[in-house]
Amino acid sequence: MKDVLRTVFGSVFGGHPDGIWAAPGRVNLIGEHTDYNDGFALPVALAQTTRLAARRRTDGRLRLHSAQAGGPVVDLAVADLVPGAVTTWAAYPAGVVWALGEAGHRIGGADLHFDSTVPTGAGLSSSAALECAVARAYDDLYGLGLGPPDLARLAQRAENAFAGVPCGIMDQMASACCVAGAALHLDVRAGSYEHVPFDPGAAGLRLLVIDTRVTHDLGDGAYAALRTGCEQACALLGLAALRDLSPDHLPRAERMLPARLRPLVRHVVTENARVAEAVAHLEAGRVAELGPILNSAHASLRDDYRISCAETDLAVDSAVAAGALGARITGGGFGGSVIALVAADRADAMGAAITAAFRAAGYQVPHLIPVTAASGARRIE
Ligand code: ADP
Ligand code: MG
Repeated sequence: MKDVLRTVFGSVFGGHPDGIWAAPGRVNLIGEHTDYNDGFALPVALAQTTRLAARRRTDGRLRLHSAQAGGPVVDLAVADLVPGAVTTWAAYPAGVVWALGEAGHRIGGADLHFDSTVPTGAGLSSSAALECAVARAYDDLYGLGLGPPDLARLAQRAENAFAGVPCGIMDQMASACCVAGAALHLDVRAGSYEHVPFDPGAAGLRLLVIDTRVTHDLGDGAYAALRTGCEQACALLGLAALRDLSPDHLPRAERMLPARLRPLVRHVVTENARVAEAVAHLEAGRVAELGPILNSAHASLRDDYRISCAETDLAVDSAVAAGALGARITGGGFGGSVIALVAADRADAMGAAITAAFRAAGYQVPHLIPVTAASGARRIE
């Protein structure tokens, strides 16, 4: 893959890159739609990465090329980058360069060629992988001395303010800050995290991502509407964020809210509690205990937050019917991926059962991706 990156870089831009960087996609174990509520999440970096061959330029040009996007080189002037100026895929990487400049870092141009094994639009954060690869490469190319959480915040700013996607910070924190063999216990309000051991293989288990290949589009307003609903609930309850509502106070809070906001609040409050429960189990090495937590989370996302759909429900139901300890939709929702925790010796049969169920329903055959907890954005050459 590195040789292919170098060869394509040479044929697109001429010459050689200064180095090669990689940033992973992520899957979130638990803590969905909690990040923009100042809450908690527990993502894991995937072995699937976006790789970037990059070379510093001295003329202020930013030239971008992606094996996945294809098409001609996107050629921009760093000095002219403003939100709204770029509306294609190139907004994600260009946004990171813009965000670095906005933050006062002395940066210039670069030639960037991307190639990725992170499926796009599958809820596995190919966008954060793209951004974090750029942030990490720029950090090295321009000697900025930024730490992983700094890179994540810049990447999120790029996606929010430059690409115009109102995502929380979980994806970028996962792609920037994860270490191999661990999940990232993220406290969004504090901006802090800790690494929690996550090794399902050692417990005789497997975690599988089932990519339903139904593409969601976070730009379509549904995600923004959910965020707005959470903000409205906070305003009515007099809270800074739903993070501040404890499960004990939930019944009282629900009585103070209009019916349409109650299920949103219920999901966020119970989901934060599920993160704490999952972390306690993982720290004690009880990986299998994650199963029932995944099942409760799916019910909450399906019935209260209502971000599931027929395909993701079918993946969850057929996984559980085939012996999974637990399964749930993961990512922003409205399609995308499901995760399932299963005994290693039942994993193949479960995968076959899910595939058969999708065929019988007339859906596209899903992609099955085994999860190993990998490390965050890094230089690889
Ligand atoms: P997700 O992050 O869950 O994969 P998003 O909708 O947030 O889904 O981001 C997907 C978008 O990110 C793609 O439509 C594309 O614009 C951009 N993208 C991601 N990876 C690449 C890549 N390797 N090359 C070009 N664009 C990419
Ligand atoms: Mg994304």
